[in-house]
Amino acid sequence: MCPAKEEKPLSLWDQPALERRDLPTDLPELLLPARRCLTCGRTFERIGGNRLTATKLQAVLIRDDPNGGRYLELRGTQLNDRHLRRAEKLLAHRRHPWFCQLCARKALCELCGSPLRFAPGSDAVDEAGHIRHHALLGFTPRCSNAVCKRHG
Ligand SMILES: [Zn+2]
Ligand SMILES: [Zn+2]
Repeated sequence: MCPAKEEKPLSLWDQPALERRDLPTDLPELLLPARRCLTCGRTFERIGGNRLTATKLQAVLIRDDPNGGRYLELRGTQLNDRHLRRAEKLLAHRRHPWFCQLCARKALCELCGSPLRFAPGSDAVDEAGHIRHHALLGFTPRCSNAVCKRHG
């Protein structure tokens, strides 16, 4: 009898990656977030929720290069060369690329489908440019939609 094949949990590092290494050399440590979602182009004001940089399935990362400097890395099946070029352009303007909770289908309200105010298990760039990890919670976060019953 063969032993049951162990199912490896899908993780971000199993996702296909695209990268760009020729970033501006004077890229500051803190980058303010871009105005719009990298993938749908909607403004943050219009979407609400959080400006995501990493979930289990996709990411837009600025990583340290072991040979010096930093590089841009996109991960996930939803992200392609077009997104990479767009992200590169944002970095040239000293803006941190991000994607919205609608595009990532992450932390959406069960009642109205709007982004929740907190995205457990994700990383997000805040308005000052800090990358914040959103820990898993034991409860459902409140909804960002002002007319939703779960708003808060
Ligand atoms: Zn989006
Ligand atoms: Zn809602």
